[in-house]
Amino acid sequence: MEENDKTQRYCRKCLTRDMNQTEYFKNLHQYIQNLDADKKTDTVTYEKRVAVCKECERLMDGMCNACGCYVELRASMKDRKCPYLYW
Ligand code: SF4
Repeated sequence: MEENDKTQRYCRKCLTRDMNQTEYFKNLHQYIQNLDADKKTDTVTYEKRVAVCKECERLMDGMCNACGCYVELRASMKDRKCPYLYW
């Protein structure tokens, strides 16, 4: 862990991309990047989805506490929906 990792703080409303890039999150983001194009949400839709999540009271530490998914992963799959149909 780097020195500034100890002092860096994240709000409960952060997406994983806003948090420290641990190996786990790197793998998550790599997985999202490598999704098949036919399954992947287009960039504009993806950003709209995660913007809604960022304003949602159910977002905690990058996860949706309604479905238990990392919201960036869920938002990146075009056939997935918000469990509350906010997107
Ligand atoms: S998936 Fe839906 S319920 Fe979950 S954090 Fe995002 S907007 Fe909120």
